[in-house]
Amino acid sequence: AYALEISGLTKIYDNGFQALNGIDLNVASGDFFALLGPNGAGKSTTLGIVSSLVNKTEGSVKVNGFDLDTQREQVKRSLGVVPQEFNFNTFEKVIDIVVQQAGYYGLPRKVALERAEKYLKQLDLWEKRDVQSRMLSGGMKRRLMIARALMHEPKILILDEPTAGVDIEIRRTMWTFLTRLNQQGTTIILTTHYLEEAESLCRNLAIIGRGDIIARGATKELLKEK
Ligand code: ADP
Ligand code: ADP
Repeated sequence: AYALEISGLTKIYDNGFQALNGIDLNVASGDFFALLGPNGAGKSTTLGIVSSLVNKTEGSVKVNGFDLDTQREQVKRSLGVVPQEFNFNTFEKVIDIVVQQAGYYGLPRKVALERAEKYLKQLDLWEKRDVQSRMLSGGMKRRLMIARALMHEPKILILDEPTAGVDIEIRRTMWTFLTRLNQQGTTIILTTHYLEEAESLCRNLAIIGRGDIIARGATKELLKEK
């Protein structure tokens, strides 16, 4: 089964710029997958379309077997999304941000509180639960976004440049966390422009440049050829 099936995906922005030139891309369920490429290649655009943050121009997208055009609700429930920009209310407390998210998915408050504790602890944020999110460091904010994205326990976690601007020690902690999550069955799809990140984390990857998939395969095979 596939977590993600993209076919003929094109994006032309309102200003006329074509960011994706009809890409095809499949990601198997259970994979740890990287979309690797330089700035401006089309990584955020691709994941933005998959997570309903950007409208596509043409092509088809299926997530967890559900069609983005006709089954958007099921697509959204299948996905946890960690965008690049922080997008929470910075005056709210850490615990409220994650519990509120569970509310959007209709989870009972008791379940929401249990999950909040579980994920905030796993991400080393439990001690900060009563702190306003604006007081957190960049790395902590990033981890808060991950905790929030996991509250409905999605099958697939999508992360756009999850470790951009995060120092190496915190980056390693996040890698460990994501690896464990993947081992427990969550499909992970991330974008990165760090070769090292793709290399040490991801089983499979695609390399994207200027709106085209340039290469696709097992990380070990692809990156040893350079
Ligand atoms: P969508 O097609 O997803 O609705 P838009 O094409 O409406 O997105 O983009 C919103 C606005 O953001 C546009 O006016 C666009 O010029 C601007 N914009 C955002 N990021 C960039 C970028 N990297 N390069 C050029 N324009 C950008
Ligand atoms: P990446 O994530 O690989 O850095 P993006 O998907 O953000 O690349 O951007 C791909 C291309 O599309 C870039 O050239 C970028 O400037 C352009 N772009 C992104 N968003 C917009 C927008 N809203 N309007 C116009 N162009 C955009």
